[in-house]
Amino acid sequence: MTNPEHYAAARAAGRLNLVPFVSVDHMMALLRAEGVGRALEEIAAHVEADFLRWPDFEKTPRLASHSLEGVIELMPTTDGRDYAFKYVNGHPKNLRDGLQTVTAFGVLADVATGYPALLSEMTILTALRTAAVSALAARALARPESRVMAVVGNGAQAEFQILAFRRLTGVREARLFDLDPWASEKCLRNLAGFDIRATVARTIEEAVEGADVITTVTADKSRAAILTDNMVGAGQHLNAVGGDCPGKTELHPDILRRADIFVEHPEQTRIEGEIQQLAPDHPVTELWRVLAGQAPGRRSREAITLFDSVGFAIEDFSALRWLRGKVAAGAPCLQIDLLADPDEPRDLFGMVRRAGLQPD
Ligand code: NAD
Repeated sequence: MTNPEHYAAARAAGRLNLVPFVSVDHMMALLRAEGVGRALEEIAAHVEADFLRWPDFEKTPRLASHSLEGVIELMPTTDGRDYAFKYVNGHPKNLRDGLQTVTAFGVLADVATGYPALLSEMTILTALRTAAVSALAARALARPESRVMAVVGNGAQAEFQILAFRRLTGVREARLFDLDPWASEKCLRNLAGFDIRATVARTIEEAVEGADVITTVTADKSRAAILTDNMVGAGQHLNAVGGDCPGKTELHPDILRRADIFVEHPEQTRIEGEIQQLAPDHPVTELWRVLAGQAPGRRSREAITLFDSVGFAIEDFSALRWLRGKVAAGAPCLQIDLLADPDEPRDLFGMVRRAGLQPD
């Protein structure tokens, strides 16, 4: 349906003010109905399709508001037809207070009218899309026979990461490590029944030694060196997810100098990613170019490949686009009264007045 037809039909039905809202409950119901593996696969396909038309998008590093304890970010993009933005925070210290490190919500809107078309929770959706993008990158960059992944940091993102690799790559074994043993045990429990061999390592060395893929997904607002140079061997693929903010990194810079580095949007990653530790002109390859066949991925079996993930707006756009399709196909949502919709567009005050407003 073209946009004018859509709005004419909505007006005729008296629903022009209503916008579908996908709550956390709705998202969980959707995942129950779809299965998480299928959702991850479909989101990855949407991201890949959008990465293949990368030049169509308006791109800007996200707008970040930093505080001592964390960051609040707005992530906008558009392809000229749809517009999306996500609100997301990153507060590692929240964990101490029993709060999430990352929470998010977002909007998809119609560029032709500027009207919002979908409002959604994005805390779960961000975990899904981050994992889907990590697996997409690994499918293009890791050695094809990769079977074993180490996951350092077993918090909110961890299971999503593992299940995306299980679904999209040949990974069948996950070695878990976290400074907090509770987190690894939680992860192990949550993965029960998912056809992935998961074990808890006693040390980070035990987790990463000989693994085909190493995912770092810790949260600490510091220049951490979760992985040091001696822990990384020839041929490994590194999926560095947790370093996503100025002053917040996970890899020792010596690793970066040995690795072939792949990024989302270089202008954003140079500010936020592991490569903030390198010279501003250090060569990196945009992941979309590898997916589009415009740039080489892995050069040799021995090469160390690094996906320096920070999370980019186009991935959220793709995830919301996926969700819009699900809502259109009947996925649970609530129609919320989000848009003021007077019968005559200029009579906004009249609408308020007719609702009972008295002169004061
Ligand atoms: P979380 O707080 O739920 O979990 C982080 C885990 O890391 C905790 O269990 C903590 O004990 C562990 N940890 C901290 N320091 C460690 C260390 N030195 N060694 C081992 N484990 C350690 O956080 P989360 O929601 O899972 O997010 C993890 C990170 O991923 C955050 O930094 C977040 O900002 C980032 N993130 C990135 C993207 C992206 O697109 N790149 C998306 C979402 C989240």
